[in-house]
Amino acid sequence: MPTFAGPDRIAVGDVRVTFLADGGGVTDPHVAWPDSTPEAWDHHRRHLDENGKFVTSVGGFLVETGDRKVVVDTGIGDMRVDFPGVGYFEGGRFLDSLATTGVAPEEVTDVVYTHLHLDHCGWTTTEGSLTFPNARHLVAAGEWDHWHGGDDPAGPDPVRVQQALEGNLDHVSDGETIAPGVDVVFTPGHTPGHLSLVVSSGVSRLLILGDAMHCAVQMSEPQWNIAFDMDPDMARATRARLLQELERPDTLGAACHFASGLTFGRVLVGEGTRYWGIN
Ligand SMILES: [Zn+2]
Repeated sequence: MPTFAGPDRIAVGDVRVTFLADGGGVTDPHVAWPDSTPEAWDHHRRHLDENGKFVTSVGGFLVETGDRKVVVDTGIGDMRVDFPGVGYFEGGRFLDSLATTGVAPEEVTDVVYTHLHLDHCGWTTTEGSLTFPNARHLVAAGEWDHWHGGDDPAGPDPVRVQQALEGNLDHVSDGETIAPGVDVVFTPGHTPGHLSLVVSSGVSRLLILGDAMHCAVQMSEPQWNIAFDMDPDMARATRARLLQELERPDTLGAACHFASGLTFGRVLVGEGTRYWGIN
């Protein structure tokens, strides 16, 4: 039965990658996945909880490479958010998860946002101050431009995130190396400026997917978009491209929204379909 993912860790060559669990969400699968059908969910029942609800984890990652400590997304924050008719999301554990790594917030050198949905930028500030005061904060220009100045409840909070980042933000480009072995790859569709990260060391690679995928069910149902995908066709095209990358035997995946035990995995192909294999 799926539950919220807890802290998890993986080594990619000399790079250590830790999932920073914050909390999770519980939603109606038929609303969250508008491309799905009740018959299909009967087939994928193991991805739903005992009440037939879709369970999603919320959190970010810490990438430790050389002397750099890179936080990828900052969870939703110490709060619960209800979306009537859809479900709820809640957080609160992000800094406790970071503490298990032995890394203090002041030691974080970089914060990079895959995108600016509220569950990816919530811990940008703590009690009015930047949570990671010595870090540079990075996001794609197209993502910042899309949300900046707005107050969409699904986006970055106007004060706690947008105002806090003004003057404290750098933009990153497709293909840019932001730390040793950590490269940006633009993966638009979920949001206009969505990005993923390629972590590589030695012969190993890890794709930190961001919200290009939300559930292991998308291995066998790659055409399913989540309701939050802003450009459905582009989201499907990006996901197809990433699935091809993930079929490479040297490539692992990291998925912040997958349920407990599935955060890190690899794509396996068999019997005409794909599987998310636990690493
Ligand atoms: Zn998102």
